[in-house]
Amino acid sequence: MSLLAVEGVSRSFGGIRAVTGFDLTLGEGELVALIGPNGAGKTTVFNLISGVYPPDAGTIRFRGESLAGLPPHRIVDGGIARTFQNIRLFRDLTVLDNVRAAHFGRTPTSIWSALLRTPGCRRDEREVVDSSRRYLAALGLDGDAETVARNLPYGRQRRLEIARALATRPSLLLLDEPAAGMNPAEVEEMMGLILRLRREFALTVLLIEHQMKMVMGAAERIVVLEFGETIAEGTPEEIRTNPKVVAAYLGGDVP
Ligand code: ATP
Repeated sequence: MSLLAVEGVSRSFGGIRAVTGFDLTLGEGELVALIGPNGAGKTTVFNLISGVYPPDAGTIRFRGESLAGLPPHRIVDGGIARTFQNIRLFRDLTVLDNVRAAHFGRTPTSIWSALLRTPGCRRDEREVVDSSRRYLAALGLDGDAETVARNLPYGRQRRLEIARALATRPSLLLLDEPAAGMNPAEVEEMMGLILRLRREFALTVLLIEHQMKMVMGAAERIVVLEFGETIAEGTPEEIRTNPKVVAAYLGGDVP
């Protein structure tokens, strides 16, 4: 069975058809990239999978179960985490507290035991801090635990967002332009990081990215959207040489 199966999904906003008849199947452990020009509907696909709003038509199944009607936090609990194109962090909290907060849905501590500071709650809290530090270490952020998030350099804020997503223990990770605004050396580093995290945490990854070096270097399969419709799907080599894709998106500018 596939991990994620999106079938015939459409979504309009007013008169704009953001996504039309979209299909996508992700097998366990795959790394698939979703590319296309600005406004093609890529982020809308993420918003539909993560339950930000429902599709007008079509079905989305995760491990065979329909996600219809589930609010975003239930979808996170079910094992789908995402990052955002515009980084979303608790900017005034420390790096460590950002990752601690992401454990919230995963700890058994009830509100009463938290208020009464029961021994069980203190143990849970220690476990959350230990676990948070492990995620920070995996992202190379162990030295930044006490730094306030807004004071982190941009590239590290991107890493922190990924650490937070991982702390919800996803099996599917949706990454929305993780290498946006990075220079070639940073793009390379981010690509290595994503490939390592996939192995280390047994992730399936769906990646939106405009940095072609990363898309071509990391993805096993690429889906190309234009005006809300899939215009091509294939291996990096097939996409690189697909005339439709070159005309719509890549131009002459492919590494
Ligand atoms: P980019 O690469 O610029 O992020 P994208 O491929 O992610 O683009 P989307 O953000 O999914 O594209 O947008 C697809 C279309 O749907 C655009 O025309 C956009 O303006 C529209 N759209 C997306 N979300 C909404 C919304 N919540 N309300 C109104 N229109 C929306």
